[in-house]
Amino acid sequence: MPPETICKIVRQYNKFPISKEDMEKLKEIAEDYGKVKNYVYQRYSGMKSLPKLYPGYTIQNEMTRCGMREGLQMPSVYFYLAVFDAIGAIKSRWTKTKGEILKAIRQNEGFTEEEQHFLRYVLKVNNAFEAALNGSLLKLPKEVQRQYDFLAGKVDVHKMENYLRRQVRRYHHPPHAGKPDGFSITAKAYRYGDEGIYISVKEKRKRIFIPLTDHNTYTRQLFVRLYPEERNVELQIPVDRTVKKHEDYNRHVGISIGMLTMVVTDEGHCYGEEFGEYQTRLSDWIRKQSVIYSQNREANPGRKKYDAAKKRLEEQLHSYINQELNRFLREEKPGKVFIPKLPKPMGAGKGKKINHYAAMWQRGYIRERLMIKCREQSVEVREVFGKDISNQCSSCGSLGRKKDSRFVCSKCGYEADVKQNAAQNAKNRGENIETFPDYKNLRLRKFPDDGK
Ligand SMILES: [Zn+2]
Repeated sequence: MPPETICKIVRQYNKFPISKEDMEKLKEIAEDYGKVKNYVYQRYSGMKSLPKLYPGYTIQNEMTRCGMREGLQMPSVYFYLAVFDAIGAIKSRWTKTKGEILKAIRQNEGFTEEEQHFLRYVLKVNNAFEAALNGSLLKLPKEVQRQYDFLAGKVDVHKMENYLRRQVRRYHHPPHAGKPDGFSITAKAYRYGDEGIYISVKEKRKRIFIPLTDHNTYTRQLFVRLYPEERNVELQIPVDRTVKKHEDYNRHVGISIGMLTMVVTDEGHCYGEEFGEYQTRLSDWIRKQSVIYSQNREANPGRKKYDAAKKRLEEQLHSYINQELNRFLREEKPGKVFIPKLPKPMGAGKGKKINHYAAMWQRGYIRERLMIKCREQSVEVREVFGKDISNQCSSCGSLGRKKDSRFVCSKCGYEADVKQNAAQNAKNRGENIETFPDYKNLRLRKFPDDGK
Protein backbone atom coordinates (compact mmCIF):
# COMPACT_ATOMS: atom_id res chain seq x y z
CA MET A 1 0.00 0.00 0.00
CA PRO A 2 1.36 3.47 -0.83
CA PRO A 3 1.93 5.66 2.22
CA GLU A 4 -1.03 7.77 3.19
CA THR A 5 -0.74 11.41 2.19
CA ILE A 6 -2.59 14.61 2.92
CA CYS A 7 -2.77 17.77 0.89
CA LYS A 8 -1.21 20.92 2.22
CA ILE A 9 -0.98 24.37 0.69
CA VAL A 10 2.52 25.81 0.59
CA ARG A 11 3.07 29.43 -0.29
CA GLN A 12 5.76 31.37 -2.11
CA TYR A 13 6.28 35.11 -2.17
CA ASN A 14 7.88 37.70 -4.43
CA LYS A 15 11.26 38.98 -3.26
CA PHE A 16 10.83 42.56 -4.46
CA PRO A 17 7.73 44.66 -5.13
CA ILE A 18 6.34 43.90 -8.56
CA SER A 19 6.59 46.68 -11.11
CA LYS A 20 3.39 48.54 -11.93
CA GLU A 21 3.61 47.43 -15.50
CA ASP A 22 3.91 43.74 -14.66
CA MET A 23 1.16 43.96 -12.08
CA GLU A 24 -1.13 45.39 -14.75
CA LYS A 25 -0.42 42.37 -16.94
CA LEU A 26 -1.19 39.97 -14.11
CA LYS A 27 -4.36 41.87 -13.27
CA GLU A 28 -5.44 41.58 -16.87
CA ILE A 29 -5.25 37.79 -16.67
CA ALA A 30 -7.11 37.75 -13.36
CA GLU A 31 -9.87 39.95 -14.77
CA ASP A 32 -10.34 37.81 -17.86
CA TYR A 33 -10.22 34.73 -15.69
CA GLY A 34 -13.06 36.14 -13.59
CA LYS A 35 -15.08 37.05 -16.70
CA VAL A 36 -14.85 33.53 -18.05
CA LYS A 37 -15.84 32.05 -14.71
CA ASN A 38 -18.84 34.32 -14.36
CA TYR A 39 -19.93 33.49 -17.87
CA VAL A 40 -19.77 29.76 -17.10
CA TYR A 41 -21.63 30.35 -13.84
CA GLN A 42 -24.42 32.20 -15.58
CA ARG A 43 -24.78 29.69 -18.32
CA TYR A 44 -24.36 26.39 -16.51
CA SER A 45 -25.50 26.78 -12.91
CA GLY A 46 -29.15 26.00 -13.54
CA MET A 47 -31.11 22.75 -13.42
CA LYS A 48 -31.13 22.40 -17.20
CA SER A 49 -27.35 22.22 -17.30
CA LEU A 50 -27.01 19.48 -14.71
CA PRO A 51 -26.54 16.72 -17.33
CA LYS A 52 -23.64 18.70 -18.83
CA LEU A 53 -21.67 18.91 -15.61
CA TYR A 54 -20.63 15.27 -15.53
CA PRO A 55 -18.05 14.78 -16.91
CA GLY A 56 -17.98 18.31 -18.30
CA TYR A 57 -16.68 17.88 -21.85
CA THR A 58 -19.89 19.30 -23.26
CA ILE A 59 -19.30 22.56 -21.44
CA GLN A 60 -15.68 22.64 -22.54
CA ASN A 61 -16.73 22.16 -26.18
CA GLU A 62 -19.48 24.72 -26.03
CA MET A 63 -17.10 27.20 -24.46
CA THR A 64 -14.59 26.58 -27.25
CA ARG A 65 -17.26 27.33 -29.83
CA CYS A 66 -18.71 30.40 -28.16
CA GLY A 67 -15.87 32.67 -29.30
CA MET A 68 -15.20 34.17 -25.90
CA ARG A 69 -11.54 33.21 -25.83
CA GLU A 70 -10.86 34.91 -29.17
CA GLY A 71 -12.83 37.94 -28.03
CA LEU A 72 -10.70 38.31 -24.92
CA GLN A 73 -7.53 37.22 -26.74
CA MET A 74 -6.82 34.99 -23.81
CA PRO A 75 -4.13 32.27 -23.87
CA SER A 76 -5.97 28.96 -24.02
CA VAL A 77 -4.20 27.60 -20.94
CA TYR A 78 -5.84 30.27 -18.78
CA PHE A 79 -9.14 30.08 -20.58
CA TYR A 80 -9.67 26.35 -19.98
CA LEU A 81 -8.44 26.51 -16.42
CA ALA A 82 -11.04 29.18 -15.73
CA VAL A 83 -13.70 26.97 -17.31
CA PHE A 84 -12.73 23.95 -15.19
CA ASP A 85 -12.42 26.08 -12.10
CA ALA A 86 -15.96 27.31 -12.65
CA ILE A 87 -17.32 23.83 -13.32
CA GLY A 88 -15.78 22.69 -10.04
CA ALA A 89 -17.43 25.55 -8.18
CA ILE A 90 -20.81 24.80 -9.76
CA LYS A 91 -20.52 21.16 -8.74
CA SER A 92 -19.74 22.01 -5.16
CA ARG A 93 -22.61 24.50 -5.14
CA TRP A 94 -24.93 21.65 -6.14
CA THR A 95 -23.53 19.49 -3.37
CA LYS A 96 -24.34 22.28 -0.95
CA THR A 97 -27.85 22.70 -2.36
CA LYS A 98 -28.51 18.98 -2.02
CA GLY A 99 -27.33 19.19 1.58
CA GLU A 100 -29.79 22.01 2.26
CA ILE A 101 -32.62 20.05 0.69
CA LEU A 102 -31.76 16.96 2.74
CA LYS A 103 -31.93 19.08 5.86
CA ALA A 104 -35.29 20.50 4.80
CA ILE A 105 -36.62 16.98 4.18
CA ARG A 106 -35.53 15.86 7.63
CA GLN A 107 -37.25 18.83 9.20
CA ASN A 108 -40.43 18.52 7.19
CA GLU A 109 -42.58 16.32 9.35
CA GLY A 110 -45.35 16.15 6.77
CA PHE A 111 -43.55 13.45 4.78
CA THR A 112 -44.28 9.76 5.17
CA GLU A 113 -41.32 7.48 5.71
CA GLU A 114 -41.64 6.21 2.13
CA GLU A 115 -41.57 9.76 0.78
CA GLN A 116 -38.47 10.62 2.80
CA HIS A 117 -36.84 7.46 1.55
CA PHE A 118 -37.64 8.23 -2.06
CA LEU A 119 -36.44 11.83 -1.85
CA ARG A 120 -33.18 10.86 -0.19
CA TYR A 121 -32.59 8.25 -2.87
CA VAL A 122 -33.20 10.73 -5.68
CA LEU A 123 -30.80 13.20 -4.08
CA LYS A 124 -28.12 10.54 -3.86
CA VAL A 125 -28.25 9.27 -7.45
CA ASN A 126 -27.06 11.96 -9.88
CA ASN A 127 -29.08 10.83 -12.89
CA ALA A 128 -32.25 10.45 -10.87
CA PHE A 129 -31.89 13.95 -9.48
CA GLU A 130 -31.41 15.49 -12.94
CA ALA A 131 -34.33 13.55 -14.34
CA ALA A 132 -36.59 14.54 -11.47
CA LEU A 133 -35.83 18.22 -11.89
CA ASN A 134 -36.03 18.31 -15.66
CA GLY A 135 -38.82 15.82 -16.13
CA SER A 136 -36.59 13.89 -18.51
CA LEU A 137 -36.42 10.14 -18.93
CA LEU A 138 -34.41 8.20 -16.44
CA LYS A 139 -31.37 6.30 -17.64
CA LEU A 140 -30.12 4.20 -14.77
CA PRO A 141 -28.07 1.03 -14.45
CA LYS A 142 -30.33 -2.01 -14.10
CA GLU A 143 -29.90 -2.59 -10.38
CA VAL A 144 -30.30 1.09 -9.54
CA GLN A 145 -33.39 1.26 -11.75
CA ARG A 146 -34.90 -1.65 -9.84
CA GLN A 147 -34.35 0.12 -6.52
CA TYR A 148 -35.76 3.33 -7.94
CA ASP A 149 -38.90 1.67 -9.24
CA PHE A 150 -39.43 -0.02 -5.92
CA LEU A 151 -39.23 3.27 -3.98
CA ALA A 152 -41.17 5.24 -6.62
CA GLY A 153 -44.03 2.74 -6.49
CA LYS A 154 -44.86 3.85 -2.97
CA VAL A 155 -45.11 7.60 -3.52
CA ASP A 156 -46.69 10.23 -5.73
CA VAL A 157 -43.68 10.84 -7.97
CA HIS A 158 -45.14 13.96 -9.55
CA LYS A 159 -45.67 15.57 -6.18
CA MET A 160 -42.17 14.65 -5.05
CA GLU A 161 -40.60 16.10 -8.19
CA ASN A 162 -42.48 19.34 -7.74
CA TYR A 163 -41.27 19.51 -4.17
CA LEU A 164 -37.65 19.05 -5.29
CA ARG A 165 -37.94 21.72 -7.96
CA ARG A 166 -39.36 24.15 -5.44
CA GLN A 167 -36.54 23.46 -3.02
CA VAL A 168 -33.93 23.96 -5.73
CA ARG A 169 -35.42 27.32 -6.62
CA ARG A 170 -35.28 28.20 -2.97
CA TYR A 171 -31.77 27.05 -2.08
CA HIS A 172 -29.76 27.00 -5.29
CA HIS A 173 -27.90 30.21 -5.95
CA PRO A 174 -25.34 30.32 -8.74
CA PRO A 175 -21.80 31.09 -7.58
CA HIS A 176 -20.20 34.41 -8.45
CA ALA A 177 -16.52 35.08 -9.08
CA GLY A 178 -16.38 38.23 -6.97
CA LYS A 179 -13.41 40.57 -7.14
CA PRO A 180 -10.79 39.16 -9.52
CA ASP A 181 -7.90 38.53 -7.14
CA GLY A 182 -5.97 35.82 -8.92
CA PHE A 183 -5.90 32.94 -11.34
CA SER A 184 -4.81 29.32 -11.61
CA ILE A 185 -1.87 28.36 -13.71
CA THR A 186 -0.43 25.04 -14.92
CA ALA A 187 3.15 24.20 -15.78
CA LYS A 188 2.34 25.03 -19.40
CA ALA A 189 2.19 28.69 -18.43
CA TYR A 190 5.04 28.98 -15.93
CA ARG A 191 8.67 28.04 -15.58
CA TYR A 192 10.90 28.21 -12.53
CA GLY A 193 14.44 29.48 -13.04
CA ASP A 194 16.97 32.17 -12.10
CA GLU A 195 15.69 32.09 -8.49
CA GLY A 196 12.23 33.07 -9.53
CA ILE A 197 9.31 32.20 -11.75
CA TYR A 198 8.42 33.14 -15.32
CA ILE A 199 4.70 33.53 -15.97
CA SER A 200 2.98 33.72 -19.37
CA VAL A 201 0.91 36.80 -20.05
CA LYS A 202 -1.50 37.77 -22.80
CA GLU A 203 1.12 39.06 -25.20
CA LYS A 204 2.26 36.18 -27.36
CA ARG A 205 5.52 34.50 -26.33
CA LYS A 206 6.08 37.02 -23.52
CA ARG A 207 6.66 36.01 -19.92
CA ILE A 208 7.13 38.19 -16.89
CA PHE A 209 9.77 37.29 -14.33
CA ILE A 210 9.16 37.40 -10.58
CA PRO A 211 12.11 36.80 -8.22
CA LEU A 212 10.98 34.68 -5.24
CA THR A 213 12.05 34.58 -1.60
CA ASP A 214 12.75 30.83 -1.73
CA HIS A 215 14.16 28.63 -4.45
CA ASN A 216 11.76 25.69 -4.30
CA THR A 217 10.27 24.57 -7.57
CA TYR A 218 7.02 22.75 -8.30
CA THR A 219 5.33 21.21 -11.30
CA ARG A 220 1.71 21.27 -10.21
CA GLN A 221 -1.13 23.62 -10.84
CA LEU A 222 -0.61 26.78 -8.80
CA PHE A 223 -2.88 29.60 -7.83
CA VAL A 224 -1.46 33.09 -8.28
CA ARG A 225 -3.03 35.42 -5.76
CA LEU A 226 -2.55 39.14 -6.47
CA TYR A 227 -2.21 41.99 -4.00
CA PRO A 228 -2.05 44.86 -6.47
CA GLU A 229 -2.01 47.69 -3.92
CA GLU A 230 0.92 46.19 -2.03
CA ARG A 231 2.42 45.11 -5.38
CA ASN A 232 2.80 41.58 -4.04
CA VAL A 233 1.84 38.12 -5.22
CA GLU A 234 1.39 34.89 -3.33
CA LEU A 235 1.78 31.56 -5.10
CA GLN A 236 -0.36 28.84 -3.52
CA ILE A 237 0.73 25.30 -4.27
CA PRO A 238 -1.12 22.16 -3.16
CA VAL A 239 1.46 19.61 -2.02
CA ASP A 240 1.00 16.02 -0.88
CA ARG A 241 2.71 15.31 2.40
CA THR A 242 3.28 11.83 3.76
CA VAL A 243 1.49 11.22 7.03
CA LYS A 244 3.87 10.58 9.93
CA LYS A 245 3.39 7.56 12.15
CA HIS A 246 4.73 7.46 15.70
CA GLU A 247 5.05 4.05 17.37
CA ASP A 248 5.08 5.64 20.80
CA TYR A 249 1.96 7.79 20.35
CA ASN A 250 -0.65 5.59 22.02
CA ARG A 251 -2.12 7.40 25.03
CA HIS A 252 -5.78 8.35 25.34
CA VAL A 253 -6.01 12.05 26.10
CA GLY A 254 -9.19 13.99 26.88
CA ILE A 255 -9.01 17.73 26.35
CA SER A 256 -11.01 20.85 26.97
CA ILE A 257 -10.50 24.00 24.92
CA GLY A 258 -10.81 27.31 26.70
CA MET A 259 -10.63 31.06 26.32
CA LEU A 260 -7.88 31.56 28.88
CA THR A 261 -5.74 28.46 28.74
CA MET A 262 -6.08 27.08 25.25
CA VAL A 263 -5.90 23.36 26.04
CA VAL A 264 -6.27 21.55 29.39
CA THR A 265 -5.87 17.76 29.45
CA ASP A 266 -7.56 15.20 31.68
CA GLU A 267 -4.36 15.05 33.70
CA GLY A 268 -4.39 18.80 34.14
CA HIS A 269 -1.53 19.60 31.76
CA CYS A 270 -1.88 23.02 30.20
CA TYR A 271 -0.94 24.19 26.73
CA GLY A 272 -1.27 27.75 25.52
CA GLU A 273 -1.45 29.35 28.96
CA GLU A 274 -0.81 32.78 27.46
CA PHE A 275 -3.61 32.32 24.96
CA GLY A 276 -6.00 34.52 26.95
CA GLU A 277 -3.47 37.36 27.01
CA TYR A 278 -2.86 37.23 23.27
CA GLN A 279 -6.58 37.11 22.76
CA THR A 280 -7.30 40.08 25.06
CA ARG A 281 -4.60 42.12 23.39
CA LEU A 282 -6.19 41.55 19.99
CA SER A 283 -9.76 42.28 21.06
CA ASP A 284 -8.75 45.36 23.09
CA TRP A 285 -6.89 46.68 20.12
CA ILE A 286 -9.86 46.12 17.81
CA ARG A 287 -12.21 47.79 20.28
CA LYS A 288 -9.89 50.80 20.57
CA GLN A 289 -9.57 51.05 16.81
CA SER A 290 -13.30 51.00 16.26
CA VAL A 291 -13.68 53.88 18.76
CA ILE A 292 -11.00 55.85 16.95
CA TYR A 293 -12.66 55.06 13.68
CA SER A 294 -16.12 56.22 14.72
CA GLN A 295 -14.60 59.43 16.12
CA ASN A 296 -12.99 60.54 12.89
CA ARG A 297 -15.04 58.87 10.27
CA GLU A 298 -14.75 62.09 8.25
CA ALA A 299 -10.96 62.24 8.45
CA ASN A 300 -10.70 58.88 6.67
CA PRO A 301 -8.29 57.04 8.98
CA GLY A 302 -6.25 54.70 6.80
CA ARG A 303 -8.12 51.44 6.42
CA LYS A 304 -5.12 49.80 4.85
CA LYS A 305 -2.92 50.52 7.85
CA TYR A 306 -5.61 49.14 10.12
CA ASP A 307 -5.94 45.93 8.12
CA ALA A 308 -2.19 45.41 8.05
CA ALA A 309 -1.86 45.91 11.82
CA LYS A 310 -4.79 43.60 12.53
CA LYS A 311 -3.35 40.96 10.27
CA ARG A 312 -0.04 41.19 12.12
CA LEU A 313 -1.69 40.69 15.51
CA GLU A 314 -3.72 37.79 14.21
CA GLU A 315 -0.65 36.18 12.74
CA GLN A 316 1.11 36.39 16.09
CA LEU A 317 -1.85 34.75 17.77
CA HIS A 318 -2.06 32.02 15.16
CA SER A 319 1.62 31.24 15.32
CA TYR A 320 1.31 30.96 19.12
CA ILE A 321 -1.67 28.59 18.75
CA ASN A 322 0.21 26.40 16.28
CA GLN A 323 3.34 26.30 18.36
CA GLU A 324 1.40 25.24 21.48
CA LEU A 325 -0.60 22.60 19.60
CA ASN A 326 2.66 21.15 18.34
CA ARG A 327 3.96 21.05 21.90
CA PHE A 328 0.74 19.34 23.01
CA LEU A 329 1.26 16.51 20.51
CA ARG A 330 4.96 16.22 21.20
CA GLU A 331 4.60 16.01 24.98
CA GLU A 332 1.34 14.11 25.36
CA LYS A 333 2.07 11.59 22.58
CA PRO A 334 -1.62 10.78 22.13
CA GLY A 335 -2.91 7.91 20.02
CA LYS A 336 -6.43 9.23 20.48
CA VAL A 337 -7.66 12.67 21.46
CA PHE A 338 -11.17 13.08 22.85
CA ILE A 339 -12.69 16.50 22.40
CA PRO A 340 -16.21 17.79 23.20
CA LYS A 341 -18.39 18.66 20.23
CA LEU A 342 -19.03 22.33 19.72
CA PRO A 343 -22.27 23.53 21.28
CA LYS A 344 -24.90 24.86 18.89
CA PRO A 345 -24.43 28.54 18.04
CA MET A 346 -25.99 30.83 20.60
CA GLY A 347 -29.43 32.07 19.67
CA ALA A 348 -30.21 35.73 19.16
CA GLY A 349 -31.01 37.82 22.18
CA LYS A 350 -28.10 36.55 24.26
CA GLY A 351 -26.40 39.91 23.97
CA LYS A 352 -24.34 41.15 21.09
CA LYS A 353 -21.23 41.71 23.17
CA ILE A 354 -20.97 38.09 24.27
CA ASN A 355 -21.52 36.85 20.74
CA HIS A 356 -18.89 39.21 19.45
CA TYR A 357 -16.37 38.05 22.01
CA ALA A 358 -17.22 34.41 21.47
CA ALA A 359 -16.76 34.85 17.73
CA MET A 360 -13.42 36.51 18.36
CA TRP A 361 -11.80 33.87 20.43
CA GLN A 362 -10.63 31.68 17.62
CA ARG A 363 -12.25 28.48 18.81
CA GLY A 364 -12.91 27.39 15.24
CA TYR A 365 -9.33 28.07 14.24
CA ILE A 366 -7.92 26.06 17.17
CA ARG A 367 -10.11 23.05 16.38
CA GLU A 368 -9.33 23.17 12.70
CA ARG A 369 -5.58 23.34 13.34
CA LEU A 370 -5.78 20.56 15.89
CA MET A 371 -7.63 18.32 13.43
CA ILE A 372 -5.09 18.98 10.69
CA LYS A 373 -2.08 18.45 12.94
CA CYS A 374 -3.51 15.22 14.31
CA ARG A 375 -4.13 13.94 10.81
CA GLU A 376 -0.55 14.77 9.84
CA GLN A 377 0.74 12.72 12.78
CA SER A 378 -1.77 9.83 12.45
CA VAL A 379 -3.44 10.77 15.73
CA GLU A 380 -7.12 9.94 15.89
CA VAL A 381 -9.53 12.65 17.05
CA ARG A 382 -12.88 11.61 18.49
CA GLU A 383 -15.60 14.13 19.18
CA VAL A 384 -17.78 13.32 22.15
CA PHE A 385 -21.15 14.80 22.97
CA GLY A 386 -20.74 18.01 24.89
CA LYS A 387 -23.94 18.38 26.90
CA ASP A 388 -23.19 19.16 30.55
CA ILE A 389 -19.57 18.23 30.02
CA SER A 390 -18.40 20.86 32.47
CA ASN A 391 -21.25 20.33 34.96
CA GLN A 392 -20.92 16.60 35.36
CA CYS A 393 -18.64 15.05 37.95
CA SER A 394 -16.01 13.00 36.17
CA SER A 395 -15.66 10.77 39.20
CA CYS A 396 -19.26 9.73 40.00
CA GLY A 397 -21.31 11.11 37.10
CA SER A 398 -23.65 13.38 39.08
CA LEU A 399 -24.15 17.01 38.27
CA GLY A 400 -22.03 19.22 40.47
CA ARG A 401 -21.40 22.94 40.65
CA LYS A 402 -18.72 25.36 39.57
CA LYS A 403 -17.15 27.79 41.98
CA ASP A 404 -14.80 30.23 40.29
CA SER A 405 -12.53 27.95 38.33
CA ARG A 406 -13.11 24.90 40.56
CA PHE A 407 -15.59 22.11 40.03
CA VAL A 408 -17.14 20.68 43.21
CA CYS A 409 -19.28 17.56 43.45
CA SER A 410 -21.57 17.54 46.45
CA LYS A 411 -22.44 13.91 45.91
CA CYS A 412 -19.00 12.32 46.17
CA GLY A 413 -16.86 15.26 47.20
CA TYR A 414 -14.68 15.27 44.06
CA GLU A 415 -13.01 18.57 43.38
CA ALA A 416 -10.91 19.66 40.41
CA ASP A 417 -10.17 22.50 38.04
CA VAL A 418 -13.29 23.06 35.90
CA LYS A 419 -11.42 22.54 32.65
CA GLN A 420 -9.60 19.46 33.87
CA ASN A 421 -12.88 17.91 35.03
CA ALA A 422 -14.38 18.62 31.60
CA ALA A 423 -11.37 17.02 29.90
CA GLN A 424 -11.75 13.96 32.13
CA ASN A 425 -15.40 13.75 31.09
CA ALA A 426 -14.36 13.98 27.45
CA LYS A 427 -12.03 11.05 27.95
CA ASN A 428 -14.63 9.03 29.91
CA ARG A 429 -17.32 9.66 27.33
CA GLY A 430 -14.99 8.82 24.47
CA GLU A 431 -13.83 5.57 26.01
CA ASN A 432 -17.36 4.61 27.06
CA ILE A 433 -18.69 5.17 23.56
CA GLU A 434 -16.03 2.82 22.24
CA THR A 435 -17.04 0.14 24.73
CA PHE A 436 -20.80 0.75 24.67
CA PRO A 437 -21.84 2.37 21.39
CA ASP A 438 -25.23 3.19 22.90
CA TYR A 439 -23.69 5.19 25.70
CA LYS A 440 -24.62 8.49 24.10
CA ASN A 441 -28.26 7.57 24.33
CA LEU A 442 -28.14 7.09 28.08
CA ARG A 443 -29.69 9.99 29.87
CA LEU A 444 -27.71 11.88 32.44
CA ARG A 445 -28.85 11.15 35.93
CA LYS A 446 -30.64 14.22 37.20
CA PHE A 447 -30.02 15.28 40.76
CA PRO A 448 -31.73 18.03 42.73
CA ASP A 449 -30.50 21.31 41.44
CA ASP A 450 -28.08 22.17 44.22
CA GLY A 451 -25.89 24.18 41.92
CA LYS A 452 -27.87 27.41 42.05
ZN1 LIG B 1 -18.99 13.14 42.11
